[in-house]
Amino acid sequence: MSETTVETIVGIDLGTTNSEIAVVRAGRVEVIPVSGTVRILPSVVGVGNDGALLVGDAARNQYAVHPERTVRSIKRRMGEDTRVALSDKEYAPQEISAMILRRLKDLAQAHLGHDVKKAVITVPAFFSDAQRQATREAGEIAGLEVVRIINEPTAAALAYESRHQGARKALVYDLGGGTFDVSVVNLEGDVVEVLASHGNNHLGGDDFDRKLVDFALAHLKEAHGIEASNSPAVMARLQRAAEAAKIALSDRPFATLTEEYLLEHDGVPLHLALEVSREQYEAMIEPYIAETLDAVHVALSGAGLAVADIDEILLVGGATRTPLVARRLEEELGQQPRAEVDPDLCVAMGAAIQAALIAGTQTRTVLVDVTPYTFGTSALGELNGESYEHCFVPLIRKNTPIPVSKSDVFFTVFDGQHTVEVNVYQGEEPDALDNIAIGRFTVEGLSKVPAGNPIVLGLSLDVNGILEVTAREKKSGLERSITIGNAIARFEQDKLDEARSRVQALFGAQQESAPASLADEVPGDGDGPAVSARRLAVEGRALVEKAERALEKVGTQDAEDLVDAVEDVKDALAGDEAALKAAMDTLADLLYYLEA
Ligand code: AMP
Repeated sequence: MSETTVETIVGIDLGTTNSEIAVVRAGRVEVIPVSGTVRILPSVVGVGNDGALLVGDAARNQYAVHPERTVRSIKRRMGEDTRVALSDKEYAPQEISAMILRRLKDLAQAHLGHDVKKAVITVPAFFSDAQRQATREAGEIAGLEVVRIINEPTAAALAYESRHQGARKALVYDLGGGTFDVSVVNLEGDVVEVLASHGNNHLGGDDFDRKLVDFALAHLKEAHGIEASNSPAVMARLQRAAEAAKIALSDRPFATLTEEYLLEHDGVPLHLALEVSREQYEAMIEPYIAETLDAVHVALSGAGLAVADIDEILLVGGATRTPLVARRLEEELGQQPRAEVDPDLCVAMGAAIQAALIAGTQTRTVLVDVTPYTFGTSALGELNGESYEHCFVPLIRKNTPIPVSKSDVFFTVFDGQHTVEVNVYQGEEPDALDNIAIGRFTVEGLSKVPAGNPIVLGLSLDVNGILEVTAREKKSGLERSITIGNAIARFEQDKLDEARSRVQALFGAQQESAPASLADEVPGDGDGPAVSARRLAVEGRALVEKAERALEKVGTQDAEDLVDAVEDVKDALAGDEAALKAAMDTLADLLYYLEA
């Protein structure tokens, strides 16, 4: 066996619901496939009809029918001096966990083509010594030398940190299938220190599923007079339908709980097709999210920190894909959480990065394809406390991994409204008109119904930057769509325009007319007074950004002057054009002088 194979150390996220294994190869973090493109192994162990050991999906699938031959969530029992029954035998929790680890090890060996003998395994920050020891033993039983046990938030932070430098305090919000943890961590280089942790190890995405199951049970009772909760088979199928609907609701405003031949009622087969809106669903799960936010504050006070001390929020765990999670965190903590590293995989990726550090292997950044800009539409809403018809409504947020599809529902405003106009923008400003208009189209022939007719708008962005926009009248299925080629590159063009304007502003030159491309492709967006005012504001903000960057490089006296000039431009942004132009000229002159 060669040197390199001996030194391969894998990283393992041994989770309550799912587990993953990753490795750093040629400087890249690779999460090892379980089958096809699937990289998640359900943490479920079972014994099949023929007595064979089942690990992962096969075991999970048989749980509903053979719970006595299946073990789930063994992580909750780690560190207990107990035995769990599996078919006709009993095992220690370490042994069950070892079966999962063994499967992961085999998958890694088959994928890498050589033996894997060493691993870094992650555990929750709150795990006791006994629980950590049991995890170490599980590794040994599986034939793995556990070179280090690290905390899950530490691993998650490493996966995110590899894209950034400098000391930071982060809040790691980890919502999995059955557990919730929040940790406050201090990040400095490769060193991650957990300052405080809090959570509830019986709260997670499974609870969200249960709410949808209850919703379906109530419907069956009300609409058909059926009490379905005492049939384990029906409950298992409802559970599966609920999870599928929940996942769909992360990307769409409506989903349908579907199960054909769910049961037989008075000799007639009953098919379930129950629609649920995201709004209804969010109302069901809001109390759980509120509980997690309380835990966030407990963790913060445990770390002796205030909300303002947190530099960033990192999302971990599959259930954080629920849009309400990021929305409520942003409302509560005043900043948008980071979610660009796959929340299911980031703990395993971080464990692999730690493993590579121990092995002395070079690691490159965790490369993920993300959208660099936010895409959305405009709608009637509230801006600065006032009703405004061009509020920007983001659908695909900046830093979301691509390809991605998101949709949301909008409503007609007038009775009998016959058409809707859809405007698509990219940018980060709350006023849609301050963003870049990248497409517009009209849907005509809507049904003659009162105001409030739901229109579902969907945006799909692929890795080549092609944005597909679809608007569908929910009631009739009437649909119109457009494809915006190279949506991302188009923004680069706009950045160029901005840079050109910035340079011009610095030299105090006359504004040249904008390159034709953008204006030509946005019907009706002429170069009138409103447009030129907007352009001036964009230039003003660009100038402010440039000055703020320059601030770090100048002496105290110059910095004071610069700060004053920046403040003047910022104040003038809200005022009239002439005042803004004058303030910008002063700032531009100052910058020119400082750079000379
Ligand atoms: P984890 O334990 O981190 O693997 O998270 C598993 C949980 O995430 C399960 O409850 C899944 O149903 C849930 N989950 C996975 N994908 C999504 C999604 N797109 N939206 C909402 N929940 C999801």
